[in-house]
Amino acid sequence: MRMQEEQLILHQEDVDLAGVKRVGLMGGTFDPVHQGHLVTAEAVRNGFQLDKVLFVPSGQPPHKREKLITPKEKRLLMTELATVTNPYFGVSAVELNRAGFSYSADTVSYFRQLMDVDSELFFITGADAILEILTWKKLDDLFAGCTLVAATRPGFQPKVMADWLEGHLKQEFLEKVITIEVPAMAISSTDIRDRVAMGRSIKYLVPEPVEQYIYKQGLYAE
Ligand code: ATP
Ligand code: MG
Repeated sequence: MRMQEEQLILHQEDVDLAGVKRVGLMGGTFDPVHQGHLVTAEAVRNGFQLDKVLFVPSGQPPHKREKLITPKEKRLLMTELATVTNPYFGVSAVELNRAGFSYSADTVSYFRQLMDVDSELFFITGADAILEILTWKKLDDLFAGCTLVAATRPGFQPKVMADWLEGHLKQEFLEKVITIEVPAMAISSTDIRDRVAMGRSIKYLVPEPVEQYIYKQGLYAE
């Protein structure tokens, strides 16, 4: 029964990418999705003339395994609520529908196969996420399928990140990493969860429907 329910909730046709030339993927736990994610995705879309940016909520990430994560159905719904007003944004449940954790490389391969061969795929991450890059599996597959866009976040200076990447990545991979500065937004999901738990306002840190949903569902209230 539970299985059936899950399939019903998460069954979602993935976006039709035929004819779409420049696609961005924005992966994350999105617990909850916030303005930092949205501003970053929009900056990259605009800066690199993307035709589409797909938000891809992740299953249980290995590095967050020990923490309690909001059920995937709720994270998916919040991501939908947050992105619905931007015609360039979409949401894919592909990682949620897979059993276990998905590596970015597998997700990239999945979307590649939905895209025309001459289309370009951009994998968008925050600077903190890219610093975990060495721990990612299948780097060769990842870079074969996409260009990595590293968005700076407060506390991550472009120079420091560039030096770090140079010290850690092969030249052929370095060529496939672009950095972009986004307006400084010190917003994080962790901070939002803490605020809710302490009864502090999260207004304007998340889109209003997401805020309403968090309260209605009693999320993060401890
Ligand atoms: P948590 O605090 O739970 O780790 P988070 O705010 O970092 O959450 P994630 O879902 O982990 O959000 O992040 C998804 C992606 O968005 C990552 O690539 C991350 O680097 C990026 N990101 C998160 N917050 C921001 C922000 N304020 N500005 C730019 N990028 C961000
Ligand atoms: Mg994070």
